[in-house]
Amino acid sequence: MRKKIIVGNWKMNKNVEESAKLATELVAAIKGQAFAEKVEIGIAPTFLALDRVAGIIKGSPIKLAAQDVHFENQGAFTSKVSVDMLKALGVTHVILGHSEPRTLFGETDAAVNKKTLKVLAEGLTPIICVGETLAERESNVTEKVVGTQVRAAYQGVSAADAAKTVIAYEPVWAIGTGRNASDDQAQAVHKFIRGLLSEMYGSPTAEAIRIQYGGSMKPENAAGLLKQPDVDGGLIGGAALKADAFLGIIRAA
Ligand code: PEP
Repeated sequence: MRKKIIVGNWKMNKNVEESAKLATELVAAIKGQAFAEKVEIGIAPTFLALDRVAGIIKGSPIKLAAQDVHFENQGAFTSKVSVDMLKALGVTHVILGHSEPRTLFGETDAAVNKKTLKVLAEGLTPIICVGETLAERESNVTEKVVGTQVRAAYQGVSAADAAKTVIAYEPVWAIGTGRNASDDQAQAVHKFIRGLLSEMYGSPTAEAIRIQYGGSMKPENAAGLLKQPDVDGGLIGGAALKADAFLGIIRAA
C-alpha cells in the first residue's frame, strides 16, 4: 500500500509573515487528528519563508518542501540555492521540473535529471513534475511527451533510489486553470507512467513509486481523483493557499 502524499506548492505567493500564518493554521488544524498520520503532508513556501516555517511545523506531521534547487553544492551560481542549504533548514522534499520553470524559465529535462540525482544523493525526496500542454494532448502525443520527461529525469538513477522518488503528473492545461483532468484522464496517464517505470525498473520498484496528480485539485474533486488506483496523492497550487481547502484535500486523501 502506497501512503498518499499531499503537497502544497505555494509558488510565489505569501510573504514570510503570511507564510508563517498559514503554516500556524495548518499545524493547529491537524494537531491530534488521526487522518493527518495516514497521509504524508508537505508544504513548499517561498525560499524566504523556509526557515520560519520550519520552526512552526517542527514536531508536527507536516514536512518542509522546496520549490526548486540547483544541482551544485556552492559557487558562482547567482540567484540559486543548493541542496546543502535546504537540508540545513530541515527541507525533506524538493519539487523539480514544475511546468512553470520549464515553460517560463527554460528548465530542461537534462537539468531536471541533474537535480534529481543530486537531491537523491543527499537523501532528500525529489517530486518530479511531468505533463503535457493542451496542444500536445490534442495532438495525441501525451504519452510520448510524458514518457520522454520521465525517462530523461531518471537517467542514471538506480532502482533503489527510484523507489524513493515521487512523480507529479501535472497536465499543463490543468494547472491554475480551474479545469482539472477527469478521474479517467488522470488514471490513464498515471497507469501509463507506472507501466513505463515498470519497464525501466521492474514491477516492485514501479509499484513503490508514488505518482501524485496536480492541476486544479480542490476539495470538491479530490476524492474522485484520489480514488483512482494509480493516483497516490496531489500536488496542490491554488487550493493550498487556504487552510480549509488544503485540509479538505488532505481529508479526502
Ligand atoms: C501546481 O502548480 O503544481 C498546481 C497543481 O497548481 P493548481 O493546483 O493551482 O492548478
